[in-house]
Amino acid sequence: MHIEVLAVGTELLLGQTINGNAAWLGARLSEEGHEVVAHHAVGDDQAMIVAALHLAMGRSDVVIVTGGLGPTADDLTREAIGAAVGVALDFDDETARLLAARWESRFGSEIPVSNFRQAEYPRGADLLQNPKGTAPGLWMETGRAVIVALPGVPREMEGLFDGEVVPRLRRKAGWVGRRVIRVIRTWGLPESTVGERLEDVFVVDGNPSMALLASEAEIKVRLVADADTDAEARALVEPVEAIVVERLGAAVFGYDEDTVERRIHRLLAERGWTVAVAESITAGLVSHRLTNPPGASDVVRGGMVVYATETKVDPLGVPAELIEREGVVSEPVAGAMASEVAARMGADVGLSITGVAGPGPAGGVDPGTVVIGVAGPDGTTMRTIRLPGDRERVRRYGATAALHELRRVLEQG
Ligand code: ATP
Repeated sequence: MHIEVLAVGTELLLGQTINGNAAWLGARLSEEGHEVVAHHAVGDDQAMIVAALHLAMGRSDVVIVTGGLGPTADDLTREAIGAAVGVALDFDDETARLLAARWESRFGSEIPVSNFRQAEYPRGADLLQNPKGTAPGLWMETGRAVIVALPGVPREMEGLFDGEVVPRLRRKAGWVGRRVIRVIRTWGLPESTVGERLEDVFVVDGNPSMALLASEAEIKVRLVADADTDAEARALVEPVEAIVVERLGAAVFGYDEDTVERRIHRLLAERGWTVAVAESITAGLVSHRLTNPPGASDVVRGGMVVYATETKVDPLGVPAELIEREGVVSEPVAGAMASEVAARMGADVGLSITGVAGPGPAGGVDPGTVVIGVAGPDGTTMRTIRLPGDRERVRRYGATAALHELRRVLEQG
């Protein structure tokens, strides 16, 4: 189906909020096999919302609106949909009861009357109950396009979309089959190399369809197959997946939601090991990512940010003469950082990262130079890499590279 996304909120126009909802919906809708034909963003202005709705309704099957469903005077999406379709607003007693009960359990007081605006809805719309928030979403068949309204808060929007909107869109599209999505995660190959190796099996709109997604220096290959049953859809994906895995070889490190962090957790847990991190250039980014998956405390002991050179000596414990002799961005120092942090924190494995983020060189070392150390029961390994890009990118990609280096060492051990 042809779908348009209309993001409502003045903060989007002023650049105060990045329109992440549009990006997320664009990706999910295309995964679902729909064609996203336009994105719009308008402010909290009823006339502008109505105009955008008229434009989108006139040429697309579905219009998905996000934002403007809150209780305040600038939340105008309900009124705008009513005006665009030419219907009055009705009041839903059940939603009002839920709103009052939620308010009371959260704040212990009676709900302000203005909040009951969230129980209003354009006549004829279905309410989509929102377990993660207050305002219900809306699904409205108008005789022209379907209008769907979702809250602006990304977590609420995503939950309602996956839980309530996807099944309705599938019914609407007349598709009652099953879809299998397989994501093959790779590290270490440039996107163009991945593309070249898959050139002869790369079918953008086949069944399965194939797409390359690049993020944080990882390249994902996504396969999507549709069939009447799960088993049939899987049978379509599996032979293509086998070719992809064979062609990309050791670069493949995980599937679907299996991020590098999760993979590291599993590899450590299998051995009963823990890890500690010493970070210079990334100043905590690696520790942050390592502790993202739930259950991190089972395998992560802790981390030290040793940004200034002296802090690598005290408190971390790298010998001053080693830094003096080899330079602070060097393999011997990265190795010492890794073994010292493991010893200091009582971890089996130490991971370290030091480097020059830029923009200019430091101590004679070029910007983008990053050295990673991994010290464990089987010895210490060091690796020097050169990353392109600005300061922020060098730090982010450096953190990803450090995680993959740890994964690689654990996989070999
Ligand atoms: P609420 O019930 O919380 O008021 P709402 O449906 O009225 O939700 P808004 O008030 O428009 O939504 O937005 C709530 C918050 O959600 C904003 O502060 C913003 O941080 C975030 N948000 C809104 N729209 C978007 C968007 N398009 N992309 C990313 N974040 C968004």
